Amino acid sequence: MMYTTEVQKHLEVEVREKNPNLYRGFHLPPSKCFAYRGFEHEDGWFQLIQEASNKIEGIIKTMPKKERREHYAMHVVSKNGCLRVYMSLINAEIESVLSDLVTFSLHTCEICGGKGERTNNITRCEEHKDAGNRKFN
Ligand SMILES: [Zn+2]
Repeated sequence: MMYTTEVQKHLEVEVREKNPNLYRGFHLPPSKCFAYRGFEHEDGWFQLIQEASNKIEGIIKTMPKKERREHYAMHVVSKNGCLRVYMSLINAEIESVLSDLVTFSLHTCEICGGKGERTNNITRCEEHKDAGNRKFN
């Protein structure tokens, strides 16, 4: 199976544009933020990252302006079969959204978004469990 990175980039840009506060770090130099690497996960998790991003953006928007600028995503990455977002700064509300994101991703195939299960640190459905891995960098 071949993966195209074009689909992923298009979805990534959409998520980032809809959540400008959360993804403000994407404009920072590599020395300050891992975000320049882009989202490092398969397409099946885009709905999850979209929903979590919308929730976190909503939380950030309720903060006072100065505080708002301090909360942004440093890295969006697939790690040990779950989807993680590392933040520059975190509060209990954001932490709860990110903890749900981890839980949801552990039951969602990273390739197709269908029901998945984690085996050997990757989360896939029955159909994709033997598909190859994409290298992001
Ligand atoms: Zn699948």
